[in-house]
Amino acid sequence: MTDRSTSGGSTTDGAARDAPDGSVPVAQATDLPLDSHLHTTRSPDANVPLEAYARAAHDRRIAELAITDHVDFDPRRPAYAFSTFTEREREVRDAAERWADRGVAIRFGVEVTYQRAYEDDIRAYLKRHPYDFVIGSVHIGPDDPYTSERVGSFVAGRSLRDIVAPYFDEVLETARSGLFDTLGHLDFVKRYLYPHVTPADLAAAPELYEPLLRALVESGTALEVNASGLRQAANETYPSAAIVARFRELGGRHVTAGSDAHLESSFAFGLREAYGHARQAGFRQLAFRRGGERVAVALPGTESPNATVGLSL
Ligand SMILES: [Zn+2]
Ligand SMILES: [Zn+2]
Repeated sequence: MTDRSTSGGSTTDGAARDAPDGSVPVAQATDLPLDSHLHTTRSPDANVPLEAYARAAHDRRIAELAITDHVDFDPRRPAYAFSTFTEREREVRDAAERWADRGVAIRFGVEVTYQRAYEDDIRAYLKRHPYDFVIGSVHIGPDDPYTSERVGSFVAGRSLRDIVAPYFDEVLETARSGLFDTLGHLDFVKRYLYPHVTPADLAAAPELYEPLLRALVESGTALEVNASGLRQAANETYPSAAIVARFRELGGRHVTAGSDAHLESSFAFGLREAYGHARQAGFRQLAFRRGGERVAVALPGTESPNATVGLSL
């Protein structure tokens, strides 16, 4: 489907071109234990039937999936009341049953759009709705300065700190809230800022990320390595490998990785690179949840504590 999220006012993400940008040889992964960020027809910006992901997972030997369709709390955003918990849960649990004995485990997750104004509503909602796995993300809404109509004039004459502040301040609150298993696409704003602000500009200002990473460490929230940036203009994960490494240095203990696919052809896309960033940062396992307590999924090649980094990924 078309990329609607750069046209302004949409909260959508990831539904971008389904081929890599530039010369980076990124591909749909095979033989991995988990893709923990996927959107189906139950998201307003995706049109992939759950069954298609299950089949693709089987064919590509991706052992486990988390279906994480969007839930918005702002009535003006597209995933507000788009589908009900009951409908989505039935669909995911039915698929999980069909695929369990074919070697594909399917979990019922969600990607909640965090907005400070709705934090109490989100807390109450998550108490009442027992998902297996919960991603909290900041998306670009109709009032944000990053829509394609506004971003050019917004960045003009502003410092980098002031440019990212509306997005990063909300991410900081997402991390502090402690409501989520993982924080989705930490610097997704890269997509909207390009080409006014490039990934290189942000890489030169790692101090802007420090409060976000420290808040994740303090709240025990995982950092997601989101591969969708590899198929978008940023041409790198959200966040970059350097930021994942810094998170580890600051005491971060939990990472997750997902393709954030909105198209069948984006399933597991770039996932091997995302895993690689986690491994290079020194992580030996991915954080996940299947309902109940957090669990660990070993990163391939790191089952032994003495495993060498960087060989097979
Ligand atoms: Zn998202
Ligand atoms: Zn997503």
